[in-house]
Amino acid sequence: MSRVYNFSAGPAVLPEEVLKEIQEEIFDYNGSGQSVMEMSHRSKVFDDIIKEAEADLRDLMHIPDNYKVLFLQGGASLQFAMIPMNLMKNKVADYIVTGQWAKKAYQEAAKYGKAVKIASSEDKTFSYIPDCSDLPIDDDADYVYICMNNTIYGTVYKELPNTKGKDLVADVSSCFLSEPLDVSKFAIVYGGVQKNVGPAGMVIAIVREDLITDDVLEGTPTMMKYKTHADADSLYNTPNCWCIYVCGKVFKWLKKMGGLEVMKERNEKKAAILYDFLDSSEMFRGTVEKKDRSLMNVPFVTGDKDLDAKFVKEATEAGFVNLKGHRTVGGMRASIYNAMPIEGVEKLVAFMKKFEEDNK
Ligand SMILES: *Cc1c(COP(=O)(O)O)cnc(C)c1O
Repeated sequence: MSRVYNFSAGPAVLPEEVLKEIQEEIFDYNGSGQSVMEMSHRSKVFDDIIKEAEADLRDLMHIPDNYKVLFLQGGASLQFAMIPMNLMKNKVADYIVTGQWAKKAYQEAAKYGKAVKIASSEDKTFSYIPDCSDLPIDDDADYVYICMNNTIYGTVYKELPNTKGKDLVADVSSCFLSEPLDVSKFAIVYGGVQKNVGPAGMVIAIVREDLITDDVLEGTPTMMKYKTHADADSLYNTPNCWCIYVCGKVFKWLKKMGGLEVMKERNEKKAAILYDFLDSSEMFRGTVEKKDRSLMNVPFVTGDKDLDAKFVKEATEAGFVNLKGHRTVGGMRASIYNAMPIEGVEKLVAFMKKFEEDNK
């Protein structure tokens, strides 16, 4: 049995230790005689799984007591609607558009109220993060919205925007648990888990309690009210039991690795190996402004489409898979999430060096 180095942006690589534990438990989870896929979400055994997952996540992220942790379905994309439905009391929200995911969230919010694009980096194909120190925040904005790490373009906020006292909402899908995050600076932090945490099919929303009310936009479906899920501890209806279980395993793995400070150091080290090479190479180059580079998603190009295609093909054959860039950007993208070992990045760089030599 051999595993590839998987640079997919999502669903993405999971820690091998976690996969092995799951394999061991698939017929009989913890003496229950069933797999987690088969058990009732109302059973004691599952209740322990979801409670422990939440406790471990709270511990890892130091989530303050006045925030609820919700395990929801519909992916990150459903949050694009749930956020305005639950938060747009004045029907005004400010959006900073730094990529396709932020743009989609902005477009969705415009269906429910006045969504205002207060900054954008679309003028340069989203290759940078705009200066957010003094933006024209609306006086009656219900919140300011950002996508923290831009999965497709490979940029990340190194500093949070100055929201002038307004609540900040952040999509952290592709940088979730990659480094410490001060949850208290946000009204809502949410992320689809299939990037850096678990299998596809779930989003974790960390919501400040005062925002969880019955005062939502008229017509909001029951399933799209945060209160519905908060009141039922994420068990209003059948949750994604399997995904919660696997995420719980990943949380334990992260704790064993030393927590988010250690992951940050490790991720910085990993990303530096790739960026240093890109900066020294004569063939490959990174596509975003250096100061805004993501630790998680690294897009790069040769500048020649045919050469890009040749690289992707040969890399795949050599066991480095899913390196093709997003269809809207082209070129290549290496997603180097928590579960990508340092050795995977080192070997990729060695392969790139050889490719450069061979194709001079
Ligand atoms: C992948 C991604 C999404 C969309 O996630 P789905 O779970 O497929 O809806 C949204 N935001 C960001 C930052 C992403 O990386």
